[in-house]
Amino acid sequence: MRALTVIPGQKGSISLEERPEPAPSGGYALIEAVALGVCGTDRDIIAGDYGWAPRGETRLVLGHESLGRVLEAPAGSGLAAGDLVAGVVRRPDPVPCPACAIGEWDMCRNGRYTERGIKERDGYGAERYLLEPAFAIKVDPALGYLGVLLEPTSVVAKAWDHIERIGARARSWRPHRLLVTGAGPVGLLAALLGQQRGLETHVFDRATAGPKPKLVADLGATYHAGSLADLKDLDPTIAIECTGADPVVLQLMVATGRDAIVCLAGVSSGGRSLPFDVGGFNREAVLGNDVVFGTVNANLTHYHAAAEALAKADKGWLSGLISRRVPLERWREAFEPTAGDVKVTIDFGTLEGA
Ligand code: BGC
Repeated sequence: MRALTVIPGQKGSISLEERPEPAPSGGYALIEAVALGVCGTDRDIIAGDYGWAPRGETRLVLGHESLGRVLEAPAGSGLAAGDLVAGVVRRPDPVPCPACAIGEWDMCRNGRYTERGIKERDGYGAERYLLEPAFAIKVDPALGYLGVLLEPTSVVAKAWDHIERIGARARSWRPHRLLVTGAGPVGLLAALLGQQRGLETHVFDRATAGPKPKLVADLGATYHAGSLADLKDLDPTIAIECTGADPVVLQLMVATGRDAIVCLAGVSSGGRSLPFDVGGFNREAVLGNDVVFGTVNANLTHYHAAAEALAKADKGWLSGLISRRVPLERWREAFEPTAGDVKVTIDFGTLEGA
């Protein structure tokens, strides 16, 4: 069978190679790949800037945003042949730390967690792969191919979970206005979950053409392009940063109002500096009860919340997020940024009617 692999740390090492068929044993389910989502993390791994091969191996099977179909499942696992599933990305660390011990691997304390397709565990970018039933999330058959959006939605569901827990520190907290920066898949899904919560939702992105402005409008939210500084009077209760762009991060940190919650969900490359008035930031943050926090990954609670959010969402709108479906044979195209891209997926051609 074919699998997309890379040598982590080595730019240009990605290839589609032959691998032996996986043999199900030890309580694993055998899954046939339907789709694989491509995200910035994959591009960082391909560029040699991120990612770790499994211990003792040179190559890593890429891919963490998965949709697959169960071919074989252990008896009593709750899975049956034909079920559509998405695989959880992270596995708890072996110690385990207090967070991983209670299933909150997204909050792993010692950093020894592993991640499929990213950190020391082969990913889902293979025609067939094994999956522990406890890490398989059933996807509503009505979603079909759109189930490939479950993993990025889980990341956003975790962000919302933490925003709401932080908000609950003030019993009077009534969020009203949401600002999302970045209209990529994560930003748009963050906006979707904001709309589902009844918030007045604003999305900022630098794109003035392409599908993003319409996707935001179709959600019933307001699209802003141009300069973020122009939004200084917006005064959002919540800001979710999904660009990872230094000036945007800085602007949100310093320019959001009283008791605002700024959630950082986009990874930056680092290594650049911007002038920053530390004392001014500290003053505003203290006197305004401000919060700036980071969020990564998701645990089972978030995958289930994500499944619910996708089930409630308009399917036409969700399909608009998948801007390109690239057949496995032409996989290289999936990693070449193209104007109008939102979410690009690799299609394994195994879902009829999709
Ligand atoms: C994935 C997360 C993962 C993170 C860091 C993201 O792209 O969606 O599941 O924890 O990268 O490796």
